[in-house]
Amino acid sequence: MAPAAAGLDKQVNPEDCFSWDIVEEGSRRGLRTLTLLPEFGGAGADCATTAKVVEEIARGDMGVSVVFAQTLKLIQSLQGAANDDQRARWLPKLRDDDRALMAIGMTEPTNASNYIIPYGPASFVTKATRKGKGWVINGKKRFISNGNRAKVYLLFAQTDPDVGLNQGSSCFIIERGTPGFTTGHVEDKMGERLANNAELIFNDCFVPGEDVLGEVDRGFDVISQFFPASNAYAAASVLGVAVAAYDRSLKWTSERVQGGRKLIEHDIVAAQLAEMLMNIDAARAYIHHAAWKADHRETGWDPTLGSLPKVFASEVSWKVVTKALEIHGAWGYMRDLGFEKLVRDAACFIHSDGVNRTLLLKAAQSIRASVLAG
Ligand SMILES: Cc1cc2nc3c(=O)[nH]c(=O)nc-3n(C[C@H](O)[C@H](O)[C@H](O)COP(=O)(O)OP(=O)(O)OC[C@H]3O[C@@H](n4cnc5c(N)ncnc54)[C@H](O)[C@@H]3O)c2cc1C
Repeated sequence: MAPAAAGLDKQVNPEDCFSWDIVEEGSRRGLRTLTLLPEFGGAGADCATTAKVVEEIARGDMGVSVVFAQTLKLIQSLQGAANDDQRARWLPKLRDDDRALMAIGMTEPTNASNYIIPYGPASFVTKATRKGKGWVINGKKRFISNGNRAKVYLLFAQTDPDVGLNQGSSCFIIERGTPGFTTGHVEDKMGERLANNAELIFNDCFVPGEDVLGEVDRGFDVISQFFPASNAYAAASVLGVAVAAYDRSLKWTSERVQGGRKLIEHDIVAAQLAEMLMNIDAARAYIHHAAWKADHRETGWDPTLGSLPKVFASEVSWKVVTKALEIHGAWGYMRDLGFEKLVRDAACFIHSDGVNRTLLLKAAQSIRASVLAG
């Protein structure tokens, strides 16, 4: 994947950075349906296994890891929250098509951190109003990973206009091609370019009542109950970048000679490599802990695990990649070495899946609530 990624990343048009060849090859190898229930043709992998796979893909390219991770986590959410009828109708669509990716639409041009730290009066601008036996959806979502590529979407829309978005929104399952649903602007991102992000646009889009996932007005329950490993997968994606930077640093420092010896033979450089490995291993242990707890909710779920592993892993990745850049000297700054891609990729998860500061605040709220409740 890595050699192909270097060329795709350089494409000027963001849509040209995306590769169906890579998706189809991954699908043929079972990566796309790794988490799908075995009775529906998948491997039924648990969260701990999935997190390891996501990190490994990200070593080759972080954008590709996000393309798959979004699909893998949303399959878990869909099959977890769905009733029997929804499983029977939707899961085969995901199994049978090598291009069947998933996306989740929450963020709007004017609503982002508001859904992570619910702010009382804020409600989704995207509204669903009842019509006959279904709902009519109007509105727009922004920045959606796989937005222009997915086949099946989980979409959040306000169904009760009188309360905040975390209390009055519902989660809808929508297929690409549904009348009234189009995709718009494809984001021109500085990094993670092999994944596309796009607008989702809804103009009087009718969705039947049986495609509400979970209960009406309780869309956030789908997230809290069936999305626990999402943060760990995001963390695994960005950790893969750090591992790639570390691997490249080992190679570079064992070949490049300055001061009469290989760089790795200078203690100050070797110590820097040791610090990188320490941080990577600590981030990975945190990710695996969160993923294991997501698999074993019966042992108790700590809500901070839904926020903090990504914060930690993205900070580790940023630190490792920028230190590795320094180790590569002037060569690292030159585009032809291909190292600068890792810097652009690592920056992505400081914001994606929630801005780190916002996630720290969310974790702080849960710690505070638990302490004050005694
Ligand atoms: C690469 C990428 C992929 C994405 N993929 C998806 C996707 O698939 N689906 C989806 O729905 N969204 C997606 N997003 C959106 C992403 O989740 C949001 O960008 C993110 O939640 C933050 O929103 P924002 O960037 O608009 O920042 P804002 O919410 O505008 O925040 C800006 C700054 O203000 C701070 N801030 C905000 N609120 C508070 C507060 N209450 N108190 C203190 N400080 C605050 C934040 O910490 C941040 O530093 C993606 C974003 C990126 C970059």
